[in-house]
This record gives sequence, C-alpha cells and structure tokens, in this order.
Amino acid sequence: MQKTTQTLIKQSQGPFFMPLGGAGEIGANFYLYGSNGYWIAVDCGQGFINNTSGDPLVLIPDIRAAKVNGITIQAILITHGHEDHIGALPYLWKKLRCPVYASPFATELIASRIKDSRLLSQLHTIKALNAYTFGPFNVEWIPVTHSIPEAHGLFIKVAGRTLYHTGDWKLDPEPVLGRTTATKRLKAIGEQGVDVVIGDSTNAPKTGHSKSEGSVQSALLDIIRPLPNRVIVTCFASNLARIYSLGKIAQQTNRHLSLLGPSMQRILGIGRKLNYLKDFPEQVQPQELGYLPRNEQLIICTGSQGEPRAALARLAEGRHQFLELEAGDHIIFSSQTIPGNEVAVARLTEQLAARNIQILTDKDGLTHASGHPAQDEIRQLYEWLRPKHLLAMHGENYHQQAHCSFATSLDINARSARDGELYDLSAAPKLIDAIEIPLIQLENH
Ligand SMILES: [Zn+2]
Ligand SMILES: [Zn+2]
Repeated sequence: MQKTTQTLIKQSQGPFFMPLGGAGEIGANFYLYGSNGYWIAVDCGQGFINNTSGDPLVLIPDIRAAKVNGITIQAILITHGHEDHIGALPYLWKKLRCPVYASPFATELIASRIKDSRLLSQLHTIKALNAYTFGPFNVEWIPVTHSIPEAHGLFIKVAGRTLYHTGDWKLDPEPVLGRTTATKRLKAIGEQGVDVVIGDSTNAPKTGHSKSEGSVQSALLDIIRPLPNRVIVTCFASNLARIYSLGKIAQQTNRHLSLLGPSMQRILGIGRKLNYLKDFPEQVQPQELGYLPRNEQLIICTGSQGEPRAALARLAEGRHQFLELEAGDHIIFSSQTIPGNEVAVARLTEQLAARNIQILTDKDGLTHASGHPAQDEIRQLYEWLRPKHLLAMHGENYHQQAHCSFATSLDINARSARDGELYDLSAAPKLIDAIEIPLIQLENH
C-alpha cells in the first residue's frame, strides 16, 4: 500500500473496507472496516485445501497486511459459528488481542476451542437487535436463518454511511431450531436506506429458492422409515437443526439414537446448554450399539467430506472402535460435497460400496438443504434493503461474478471485492489500493 493511502485511511473517515479472506474464495472470511484509523474485523475464519492424501490443510488470513499498513484491529465481530467464520481465532486472536463479540452459540463454540483465560475474558456475548458502539461504528446483529443456529447479518452505521454485511444467510420459513430471519427489521433498515450491501455470493449462480430445513426433516423421515437394518446418517456437526431433526426421526421410527465423533458431542452439549434440545431423545452410547438389533439403530456421524480421521472413514475401513457395519446397512449423506473434496468422498463411497453398504445421497431425495440463498432469496432481501451498491464477497470469482450480474439486473451497482483490495465507501465503492495477500497455509494442526 502506498504511503499516501496509509495516511488517507488513518486521517479520513471513509468508511473503508478491506477483505483479507473470503473475497475470491469460500473460506477464511476476514473483512476489515475502518474509519479515521479505527478498524474492526468481521469474522475470523479458516479455509481448507486437501493435500494429496485427502487430509485437510488449514488456511488462515495473513494479518501482516493489516500491520504493515498501520491498521490496528480494535474488535472482531462474529456473524456466526461456522469454521470459515471463527476457525482462525485459535491462531490469530493471540496476535490481535482485541475483544471478540459473538452470539451465545458462537461464543460457546469459540470458548470450546480456546483455553487462554486472558483471551476468553475478552470474549463478549451480544444480544441480537441491540446496537453496539465500536469507536465510530454502530453495529446491530440482525438474526438470519442459515445452517447453524444464531447466524446474523450486521447492520453497520459509520461516517454517515449505512452498510449491511449479510454474513451467511438464506430465507428459511421453517428452520427447525432457532429464530427465523428478522424480516421486519430488514424492511425497516431498507426504509432508512442502505448505501452498500457486502453480500454472500455462494449460491448466487443458482436460480430459485433454497430448500427449507423443515422440508429436509420430513423428507429424511420418509426415506428412513421403510429402511431395514442399521441407518447411519452423516452430516455437518455444526448443523444442530439437522441433528435435532434426526433425533425426532429416531423417535418416530422407534430407533435408538447414537452420535459418533467428538465434534457431534461438542455441538450437542452446546445445544443442550443453550436450551435448543429440550425434547431431544436420550442417546445410546456407541459401545452399547453391539447389543441392540440393527433395525433399531439410527446413528449420526461426522465425516461426510471423506475426512480420513472422522468416524465415517473409520466405519468404511472397518476400524471403528465400537461399531462394525454389515452388508445391507444404509448410509445417508445428509450433506453436499464441498468442492475440492470430491476425490476423498469418492474413495469413501467406494469403500462403503465394497462392503455392500447401501448409499443414499441428495440425488435420492431431499437429504440436505444449502444454508445459502439462491436468486429468489437474494432478490427478496435486496427488495427489502434497497441497497444502492453491492460488493460481492463469500465466494470464488465465479460466484461473485454471478452475484454481480444478478444484482445489476436488479439495478444495483455491483462489483466483486478481492482479498487485499481497499475500498473507499464514502460514495460509490471506489477501489483505492490493492495488495497481493495470499492466505497462509498451516503446516501442522
Ligand atoms: Zn456459514
Ligand atoms: Zn461461510
């Protein structure tokens, strides 16, 4: 960054926007907003790439870019508890040493990963729809539906401008757990006027509307009810609504429920603590499964992405400590394969097929719903917010471009942001500088 730019961002109110992760890739979300030299970060996530053996390697944002440009981050505001939004905190928070603000659910997830009590004393729980002040910023967490409880967009007022940072979102009228999107508030915000939306691009290439979590629950019930033998469902551990749905389905189909994998247990513990799971059935311990008839078992496990160390990979290889799959058992993938994991998932399904395990995926029914908005939802949100400008983020170039084309068709002035670009948002978003800032790959984790 040039010296003149450094002086500008220190001395002008802007506001300024600089993504250091998440703009140009899916993962490692880390977005900086600044005004008069005061900076906040929205999210602090990790990304993944797979090495040749399918092991995930962690990528984190490079905060040196902020340091060398004289940017000190005063607070980190978390939109929700997914790894691509909080997963870099264990690596970066000890360097940044600033307060972190998050919803109760995200706070618990962060606290379960960080042991440093001095850092944890800087972890604050926010209340949605309350306004918080950070230097020149006024920020309100707006509840939205997504694939984890307590996801939020951020309504940011700064330097006379109004910004809406969408976070990850969808419009789900039946999210199964947690509140629905705060549509009234979003409409009221739109009436006041929104200058710039900084928006999730993940599913912008898709027409139509994302499927509801409630529809997935009824579809899974229909799929599971007639199945003989053991049923194993693999899903993302963070999707508490899905786990809750499967608990209900276990009750409705007279199956005992068991959860495999420490991350499943961790999420369940947090769900219980925050009162999301009041009528959730008792679990059977994995070591007891061997004493129960196969057709009375419903097992939820991690490993839908082919992760070699997860419960499903161990089951597929016949090396799980407590459970041996048998021919005729069913595995339901209640997930979608994240781009980059295709080889690992293909290897996993081959191993399962070789053991005569029946595999069901989202091609066989509504076993999964995305947590991100397709075009009908994006149109609806932008009708409520009536933004003048869009900066497309949370996506690869292809997703961002699709988001921009769609927003342009709605008469919104749109452009893609890239990691390392610095924007002045005092009028139409204007690119004022850019630096090369690749994510850092961690060797050991
Ligand atoms: Zn998310
Ligand atoms: Zn995300």
